[in-house]
Amino acid sequence: MTTRPLKSVFIQAIRDTLGDRGGREWTWLLSPRGHIALLSKRWIDMTMSRVIIMASVFTLLTPMWSLIDWFAFPLHTWLLLMVGRIVATFAFVALLFYMCGEANLRRARWGLIYLFAIPTIFYLYGDVILQGVSLRGNSKAVAVTHTFLPFLVLTGLSVFALTLFEALVLAVPMLLSKIILAGFFWPPLGQSTAYAAGWLLLLVTIVAIMASMSQLSFVIALVRQAVRDPLTGCFSRQSGEELLELQFNLALRGNTPLSVAFLDIDFFKRVNDEFGHDAGDQVLMNAVEQMMEKMRSGNMLVRWGGEEFIFIMPHTELGKARIALERMCSAGFGQRPEGTLLTASIGIAERIADHGLNWRDLVELADSRMYQAKDAGRNRIIVG
Ligand code: GH3
Ligand code: MG
Ligand code: MG
Repeated sequence: MTTRPLKSVFIQAIRDTLGDRGGREWTWLLSPRGHIALLSKRWIDMTMSRVIIMASVFTLLTPMWSLIDWFAFPLHTWLLLMVGRIVATFAFVALLFYMCGEANLRRARWGLIYLFAIPTIFYLYGDVILQGVSLRGNSKAVAVTHTFLPFLVLTGLSVFALTLFEALVLAVPMLLSKIILAGFFWPPLGQSTAYAAGWLLLLVTIVAIMASMSQLSFVIALVRQAVRDPLTGCFSRQSGEELLELQFNLALRGNTPLSVAFLDIDFFKRVNDEFGHDAGDQVLMNAVEQMMEKMRSGNMLVRWGGEEFIFIMPHTELGKARIALERMCSAGFGQRPEGTLLTASIGIAERIADHGLNWRDLVELADSRMYQAKDAGRNRIIVG
């Protein structure tokens, strides 16, 4: 039997738990800074739907718990707790309405903050109320369950896919409340048990944060798989559509130009027919390499279909897009296996000049111009 050194087993275990993120993506687990747009979009959808589910559960559970309070506490205490529960329930309902608005990063983040802030504030309020009550029998048992609330809230972190920074922002207020209030001022179980509970809460929080980061790591892996076309490494069609939607909305909001170029390689089928599919793949990969080299950094290259590509060019007017693509064409797209130059036919459309109402209009127009370029003899650019 072969054994591996403990250090390498440990490092592998961490990689498997958090996902083996190469290079820059590792930092995506620490803070949301630098997350690519597609990752943020998935994160927003996922976070908002989970906030809605959690807020719905709390909306039901918060008032229902007052039944248990009823059997445990004197009327006066029960009423005070009930007021807190009603306010918290309304806050959860308000949160649900807030989450019905437009899905964006700001709303998803604030939704998360409210979701964790409401039970934290209710917990503090409940503690203040229960401090004035003499606890015996039933009421002591129920008061003890009140100290479980932080456990419920902090394990809730594991429902979400969070960066370390986000998880800490959400966890620290509740942890501090627990330490300050339950640890020093109001230990219904006795001081030493309260400290032990605090320590356990810290451990639970660490595990919940790890679960949450691990979820984020899976989301990153899924986005990475969906984002890239495996043969050429450019954006896949699916992510290309999301990018077009995103860029179109940004251009619309800022009233800035957005050019879309549709590029189809000329007589590509002949490469396959004469030299085989593998040679065709090689020619395609080489063509993409050439295009990427000549592309401006803000532009995006999408593999739309077999030998069809789309350039997304934000902040680029029609004239400038044409000049950039002419430069690319003159540099060439590499060679066919027999040594002749590979050419392409290109159609360009632009949001403002062509009065595009959505990104599909632009792609359709650029596509039809590309066909005009084919009809006119291939190896050319048509702008409109
Ligand atoms: P045109 O100038 O009119 O565009 O001619 P074409 O031969 O390029 O056009 P057509 O659309 O008829 O052929 C495209 C070919 O691209 C057909 C298909 O077999 C090939 N193709 C699509 N995807 C791949 C791929 O991933 N690898 C390889 N090797 N070939 C592919
Ligand atoms: Mg084609
Ligand atoms: Mg073609």
